[in-house]
Parts: sequence; C-alpha cells; structure tokens
Amino acid sequence: MTNNRTVTKIIKSQLTSDGAGVTLRRSIGSGMLSELDPFLLLDNFGTENPDDYIAGFPDHPHRGFETVTYMIKGLMRHRDNTGANGLLKPGGVQWMTAGRGIVHSEMPEQSEGEMSGFQLWVNLPSSRKMCNPRYQDIEPEDVPIITTKGKAEIRLIAGSVGGEKGPVTEIDIEPVYLDISLEAGGTYTHEIPKGHTAFIYVFEGGLDVAETPVNADHLAVLSDGEAISVSSTNGGRMILVAGKPFGEPIARYGPFVMNTKDEIRQAINDFQNGNF
Ligand code: FE
Repeated sequence: MTNNRTVTKIIKSQLTSDGAGVTLRRSIGSGMLSELDPFLLLDNFGTENPDDYIAGFPDHPHRGFETVTYMIKGLMRHRDNTGANGLLKPGGVQWMTAGRGIVHSEMPEQSEGEMSGFQLWVNLPSSRKMCNPRYQDIEPEDVPIITTKGKAEIRLIAGSVGGEKGPVTEIDIEPVYLDISLEAGGTYTHEIPKGHTAFIYVFEGGLDVAETPVNADHLAVLSDGEAISVSSTNGGRMILVAGKPFGEPIARYGPFVMNTKDEIRQAINDFQNGNF
C-alpha cells in the first residue's frame, strides 16, 4: 500500500521587497520558515503594476547554491560577469548553478502589463559549492504540458510525469518541479521518493492537499511518504517541488550560502576583491 504524504505545516507568504524594489511574496527564506533543506528561499513575484517590478534586480552576487527562475508572465533579461546573456520568456525556466560565484542582473524587459513567476533557491552539497557556474536555459516550448483524465494540466519542469521527463537534468537534489493547474473537480497524485523534502505553493484559487485546504499565497510543507494527492473543488494552480535534502550545516549571509562562517568570510573577501 502506498504511504501517502500529508500536510505538516502551512505558512502564509510574506509581502516584501527585494532587488531595487521588486514587490514579491516570500515563503521559504522568511521569518516563518528560514529554510526547508535543500530549499533556501521561495519568492513569488506577481503584479500588474510596473512600479512594483520595473527597477528589477541590478548587479548582485551569488555563491554556493542554485537559483531557479520560472517565468509565468512577462519577460526578464539576465546578464552576468562571464558574458552570459539570456531572455526568460513566459513559461521558460532558468536553472542557474552559481557554484563558486557569479555576479548578475535580472531585469524586466517590459514596461507595462503583468509580470509573474517564481524564484527558488536550491542548495548545493558541500563538495560542489565551489563548482564552476552552469546554466540550464529552458525555452517555453521545451517544457512539456501534460493533461490528465483527472482535469489536471501539468507543466513539467523537472522530474517525470506519465513516463515523460522534464527538461532540467543533472541536478544534485534530483528535483521534482511541476506547475499544476486543476480545473473544478480536478485531482492529481504524484509519487515522490521517500526521504525527499516536498512542498506545494498555491498561487491561484484553492486546493485540498491530502484533504487539507490550502489557499492562494500559502505554502504547505509535506510529511515524508511515497505520494501526494491534491484536488480542487473550484479550481486552482500550484507548484509542487521536491528534492533530496543534504543534512549539512548552513551558514548564510544574503546571497552567499556556505557550510561554515569561515567560508562566508572568504566569499565576502572574494567578492570585494573582484575574484568572482
Ligand atoms: Fe540573482
């Protein structure tokens, strides 16, 4: 018999501002939930008011982890100090392994209309925190969309659904990252390896996660188990994310996430001395 996961905790995302003044909702990485090993931060940006996003995220560093940007609406330009340059389009994903360090900017490439999406921070194991930076830039057309008999429509970013594999590969945490829309009366069950951390973030409508109601702008942390079932009476949309935890110490200072305070001091020195 399958051991189903349940909801162990629900937190409401906190309205905050980051970068040069981008309004967003933070759940993981907030005072409510500082981390959820291997996940370090989850931001949901979503607004129709250009004043809330236009200033973007000018040049800033990262070291020791990965940033995953999933655009739902709008356009975001990415540039870094290695010369990498790309445009994220609606439905597209950038899985950036910062490794030993990059300095980049993430700027909206639009001055009107809605911009929305997610940024997730994923930790790296101690052995790989100083690896070379790497990008997986996934175009919208390379994200499979799977519709099920249970009135679910799934955008498959990482993991597998019904034998189909997501475009993101070779990531330490063996991630699952699904964007799931349920119509009214829709249901969906997904298997997740035992021992892997998993959460659901609802961003439209409302859902029942293992029979626990979860409203929009809330994050549900899941218990351990082999599968999770979701349903919706009136329709809703969520991301389901899972990955293997590391169980390693976390030393954190803004955009640097290492294992020890010494490594954080080194990161600050390296950044200040232009060694990124
Ligand atoms: Fe960044």
